[in-house]
Amino acid sequence: MKRKIETKCLHLEEDDGKNTHYGAISYPIYQTATYAHLGVGKSTGFDYSRLQNPTKEHLEKIVASLENGISAFAFSSGMAGIALLMEIFKPNDHIIADSDLYGGSIRLFRNISEKNKIQFTNIDCYQDKIEDFIKPNTKAVYLETPTNPMMNVTDIQALSEITKKHNLLLIVDNTFLSPYFQNPLDLGADIVVHSGTKYLSGHNDTLAGFLVTNRTDIKEKFEFLIKTTGAGLSPFDSWLILRGIKTLGIRMEQSQKNAIQIANWLKNQKAVTKVIYPALKEHPGHEIMKKQARGFGAMITFQLESKAFALSILEKVRMIKFAESLGGVETLITYPTTQTHADVPQEIQEKNGITDSTLRLSVGIENIQDLIYELETVFQETERELYA
Ligand SMILES: *Cc1c(COP(=O)(O)O)cnc(C)c1O
Repeated sequence: MKRKIETKCLHLEEDDGKNTHYGAISYPIYQTATYAHLGVGKSTGFDYSRLQNPTKEHLEKIVASLENGISAFAFSSGMAGIALLMEIFKPNDHIIADSDLYGGSIRLFRNISEKNKIQFTNIDCYQDKIEDFIKPNTKAVYLETPTNPMMNVTDIQALSEITKKHNLLLIVDNTFLSPYFQNPLDLGADIVVHSGTKYLSGHNDTLAGFLVTNRTDIKEKFEFLIKTTGAGLSPFDSWLILRGIKTLGIRMEQSQKNAIQIANWLKNQKAVTKVIYPALKEHPGHEIMKKQARGFGAMITFQLESKAFALSILEKVRMIKFAESLGGVETLITYPTTQTHADVPQEIQEKNGITDSTLRLSVGIENIQDLIYELETVFQETERELYA
C-alpha cells in the first residue's frame, strides 16, 4: 500500500524494521564537520559536512518523499536554495517568471541574476498565454501557486504540457501550500522550491530552504553546485525541521480550518472591501485548486477601505503579531507593501493589486474563538477611533 502523507512526515519507508542509532526514535544530530575514513578509498558515505551530513540527509529523504521527488536538497534558507537554483542557468538564458512572487525572489532575480546576464520576463502565469513569451533562449518558467500575496492560482498541469512541449524547466515554489496540500512534481513540474522556514518548520524558529526534483540530470547539477558553493543546512537546524515536519499534517489542517472561519468573518466586515482566499467559492482559482491541491492553505490577503484602517489594525493587534513570515503555529499579520514586497517596484505592486491598504494574514493554530475575539476587538477599536 502506498503510504499516506501524514505517515511519510514521520517515517522513511527504507528504515522500516531497522534498529539503527541505538533505537533512537528521534533522529540523532550528527554535529560533525568531517568523517574518518576506514582506509584509503574507503568512505563511510560521508566525507565532509558541506557535501553531506547524516541528519541533513535524513531530512532531505523525508522531504523528497513528501514531494514524490527522487532527491531533495536542504539549504540554510529558502533564498539560499533559490540562489543556488539560478546557478544552473547560463548568461543569456531567459526565464519567464510570474510577476506576483515572494519579494525576495524578485530582488534576487533583478539584482543578482540579471547582473549575471540571465534575462527575465514577468507575466501573470494564471492568465497570460505563456507561448507568446517563449524565445529561442527561454529555459524555464518560474512561479508560485497560489501567489504571494495575491493568491492567483495557475493550473500546473496545463502549464506543464506547454513547458514540456518547448523543453523548458517548470519550477514551482510550493511554500504556501506545503507538500501536505500540493505536489507540483506529480502535476508535471521539474523542480519544487520551498522556504522550509514556513510550514515545514512550522514554529517561526528556524530558517531553511529546499529544492526537490524528479530529474537525475538536475539532481546531479545540484549536487555539484552544493559541493562547490556550500549553503547547506546545519545539522541542528536539519533536526529542528525534521521535528517540525512531524506535525505538518495536523498543523496544516488546523490552520486551514481557522483560516476558513476568519475569511468568512472578514467578508462580513464593513471596513473590508475584498477578501482573497482560494477556499472561498468566488475566488477565481477555486476550481483549479480543488483539482490540483488537497487543500487551500491558511494564507488570507484582504483589502481595507483605507490605509488608515490597515495601519490601525497593525498598531492594535496584541496576540496576533505584526511580523513578516508565515506558516508557523502563531498567527501573523503582514503589511506586504513595506515588508515582504518592499523591494518590488511600485508599478508592479500596483499592477498586482498590492496597495497601502492590503494586509496579509498567516493563520496559525490558536483557538478560533480567541482569534476572532482579537480581530473583533481590533476592528471595533479602529472604527471608534476613525469615525468618532
Ligand atoms: C519566505 C519565502 C521565500 C524565501 O525563503 P527564506 O527561508 O525566507 O529565505 C521564498 N518563497 C516564498 C513563497 C516565501 O514565502
